[in-house]
Amino acid sequence: MSNQVSEKVHVLIIGSGPAGYTAAIYAARANMKPLLYQGLQPGGQLTITTEVENYPGYADGVQGPEMMVHFEKQAARMGADIRYGLATKVDFSVRPFKVEIDEEKWIEADSIIISTGASAKWLGLESEQRLNGFGVSACAVCDGFFFRGKEVAIVGAGDTAAEEALYLSKLCTTVHMVVRRDQMRASKVMQDRVLNTPNIKVYWNSVTDEILGANKVDGVRLMNTVTQEKTEIPVSGFFVAIGHEPNSGIFKDFIEMDETGYIQTIPGTTKTNVPGVFAAGDVQDKNYRQAVTAAGSGCMAALDAERYLTANGLA
Ligand code: NDP
Repeated sequence: MSNQVSEKVHVLIIGSGPAGYTAAIYAARANMKPLLYQGLQPGGQLTITTEVENYPGYADGVQGPEMMVHFEKQAARMGADIRYGLATKVDFSVRPFKVEIDEEKWIEADSIIISTGASAKWLGLESEQRLNGFGVSACAVCDGFFFRGKEVAIVGAGDTAAEEALYLSKLCTTVHMVVRRDQMRASKVMQDRVLNTPNIKVYWNSVTDEILGANKVDGVRLMNTVTQEKTEIPVSGFFVAIGHEPNSGIFKDFIEMDETGYIQTIPGTTKTNVPGVFAAGDVQDKNYRQAVTAAGSGCMAALDAERYLTANGLA
């Protein structure tokens, strides 16, 4: 690995969801010549959804991947430098800050906007990892189609799990929904929809003991936590919908986070504990996590960065 610094920029944006691209649009329009690295999944989580109906401005709705192409094009049109590449290491103890890209080159930046988003959580079973892509999925909307006319299981009891169970119920013969407590966390309206859908069967107080199958999923073994009783159900697909975790690991030596890894920002701003480093979008938001709130905080981050650069004679 080389320690060679290849370029220096005013604003480096890490991540390419609504927060990152909105920050890029604002920073480019303010003539800060931002450089944005997209990460492994350009466009972020919206690229693995279908229809988005709640982003203002799209009166007829829009497909998530299409919307993210619009975001990217708009940022590029404003002059943002958008590149495919992953931030692999950072050093925020020096000025300018240093960020390693793809484990091969370092970029220096006067200010940083972290907009790395969040990723799906997994149960942590060996069988889940082994069968990932062979019947195990964390995205019903992406992969549900492959299980048309079949039985599937889904784990989780939040709004995501409820939404995905309902989506799967339209494609699959039976959806076995595995809930670890005796109640769901999902909103009342979503719970009602789930409980009133005849082909969704809810297993209360149940955890996944094992996902069954050698090369592909052919069943799941559940355990009732009250009776300790184990039940095997034949399913072809196993969906995990137990929430998300922030993509903040590479910043942990420098940036203050809560106990679950969400970056802490000063309320009402996108400022982190390191002056000049800002955070926007899902990586710092465990509450709202919407495209429009992420975009809003991306705008705030660009404005905060601009003020920081000006105040420090770096603009
Ligand atoms: P949540 O954190 O709200 O829910 C996660 C669910 O997974 C909980 O029911 C939790 O159980 C369960 N869970 C967590 N870990 C495990 C585990 N190891 N084994 C089994 N179950 C587990 O995440 P969501 O992704 O559902 O939602 C995130 C946010 O996005 C929420 O604020 C939600 O309201 C919002 N959202 C809104 C939608 C809408 O309005 N249409 C759609 C989707 C999401 P437990 O309850 O026991 O902790």
